[in-house]
Amino acid sequence: MTQTQNTPSVTQVRHLIGGEWKPASDGATFESRDPHDGALLGVVPAGTAEDGAAAITAARTAFDDGPWPLLSPKERAKILHAVADTVDAHREELALLETRDGGKSINQSLHAEIPRVAHNLRFFADYVAMAANEAYPDGDLLSYVLYPPAGVVSAISPWNAPLMLATWKIAPALAFGNTAVLKPAPQTPLTAHRFAELALEAGLPEGVLNVVHGFGGEAVAGPLTSDPRVDRITFTGSSATGVKILQAAAVNHTPVSAEMGGKSANIVFADADLDVAVPMAIRAIFGGNGQVCLAGSRLLVHNSIMDEFLARFTEQANTLTVGDPKDPSNFLGPLIEQRHLDKVHGYVELAQEEGGKVVTGGARLTDQARAGGFYYPPTVITGLSNDSRTAREEIFGPVETVLGFDTEQEALRIANDSPYGLAGMLFTQNLDRAHRMAARWKAGTVWINTFFERDLRLPFGGEGASGLGREGGQYSREFFTEPRAVTLRLRG
Ligand code: NAD
Repeated sequence: MTQTQNTPSVTQVRHLIGGEWKPASDGATFESRDPHDGALLGVVPAGTAEDGAAAITAARTAFDDGPWPLLSPKERAKILHAVADTVDAHREELALLETRDGGKSINQSLHAEIPRVAHNLRFFADYVAMAANEAYPDGDLLSYVLYPPAGVVSAISPWNAPLMLATWKIAPALAFGNTAVLKPAPQTPLTAHRFAELALEAGLPEGVLNVVHGFGGEAVAGPLTSDPRVDRITFTGSSATGVKILQAAAVNHTPVSAEMGGKSANIVFADADLDVAVPMAIRAIFGGNGQVCLAGSRLLVHNSIMDEFLARFTEQANTLTVGDPKDPSNFLGPLIEQRHLDKVHGYVELAQEEGGKVVTGGARLTDQARAGGFYYPPTVITGLSNDSRTAREEIFGPVETVLGFDTEQEALRIANDSPYGLAGMLFTQNLDRAHRMAARWKAGTVWINTFFERDLRLPFGGEGASGLGREGGQYSREFFTEPRAVTLRLRG
C-alpha cells in the first residue's frame, strides 16, 4: 500500500528564534524537494549569519535569564517526556515527512527512526534525573562533583537520519540544562521544523530550542561555530566539514563533539553462521540506501568461503526491492540528490578504472517508475585491494566492496588500515577470537554476530577521521556539562 493519501502540502518553513517564527533576515529561501519525484515539499529560509547570531542571542538569553538551567532534572524531564509523547502521537505524520524529504524507506522511518526520536528524549530526560553522582568523604573533608550545564549548544546535523540525529544532540543538551540552536541539513529541513512546532506546543519554554535553516560556511552556520557566546558544538556530518568546524571552534576554545564519516569493515570468518552473516551483511550496506555512517562498506570474507558467500550475498542483493520509499514493500528508496548520485556512480566508475569488477548493479535505474528519482541499485564490487580509493574513501551509497583474507591477523590489519575508525562487525563462532579482535580494532563500536544494536548508555563515536569524543549516557554528561569539583571542610 502506498501511503500517498497522507501527502502533506508544501510547508512554509521558518526559523524558530526565541519562540518566534521568522524568515531569513534578507528574505532569501530555498526549496526542499522529494528525491522520489522532485515534488516541491517545502520553502525554507536560507539563513544568514545575522539569523545565526540572533538564534544564539535567544539561546543565550534563555540560558542566562531563563528558568531552564535552574529547573530540577525532574522538572526538565517532565517537559521532555511531554515532547516525546507528542512525537509518539504524531509518529505517522513525522515518518511520512521524513520519508518524503529524504527518501528513506517508510518502514525505517515509522518503525525505527521516529520511535528513536522519542527514545532519545526519554532516555536523556531519565538519565539526568536518575544518574548517580560522585562523593568522596575523606576525614573532615567531603568532596563531590557538580554537573552544571555548559550553556549554549550549537547542534549541526546531517541529512541521512535527520530528526533521529538532531534529537540525539538536542535531547542530552536540553536534559542537562543547556539551551540550543539546531541547524538541520538543508536537504532535509522538514521534520526539524515540525518537531520544533510540536515541542513548543508540548510546553518547551521559548528560547530553549532555536532552529535555523540553511547552509554551512559563512552563512547561517558561521556564527554557530565561531561565535564566542557558544559553549559547546555538537556536529554530525562529513569528516571534511568536521575539520572546518574544529578550526572555527579552536579560535574560542569551544569544545566540539564530532561524529563523522566511516568506512567500516565487516569481517566474515569461515566458521560464521552464514544464515546470520549474509542477511546482516546485506542490511549493513544496503539498509538506508547505504547512506549510513555505520555501514559495513568493506566486506572482508575468508577466502575459503568466498565463492559460497559471494553467491548468496549477490543473490540476496538482487532480490532487494528499489522504489518509492512510501511503499512499505520497497527496501531501498532514492538517493538524496543528483549531486550525491553522481558521486556514488563516480565511485563505481573509479572502481572499474582501479581494476574492480562490478558483480551486480552499477548503473542508475531509469525505467519509467524510477526515472523521476535518484534511484541506484544494490551494487557489489570485487577484485580490488584495500589500497584502492574505492576501498578507502566513504562512498555513502549502496555500494559494497568485497575483499578476501586468509588469517585473523590479516583481517585485523585490513580492517585497521583505514583513515576512518567508526565501527566494525565480525561474524564467527569463535568468541575467543571475537574478543581478541574487539580489543585491537580501531573502531568506536564493534558488533559481534550482530549489527546496528544501540544501547544509549554506551559511548558512541569514532577514531581518526570518524570523530572526536564520545556521546551517550555518562559520555554525554561529560560533554554537555562543566564537571565541577567541590571540596568542603566539615567541623566535626
Ligand atoms: P555535511 O558535512 O555535508 O553536512 C552536515 C551538516 O553540516 C549540515 O547541516 C551542513 O549544512 C553543515 N555544514 C556544512 N558546512 C559547514 C560549515 N563550514 N560550518 C558549519 N556547518 C556546516 O554532511 P552530510 O552530507 O549532511 O552527511 C553525511 C555525512 O555525515 C557522512 O560523511 C556520514 O558518514 C556522516 N554521518 C556520521 C554519523 C556519525 O554518527 N558518525 C552519523 C550520520 C552521518
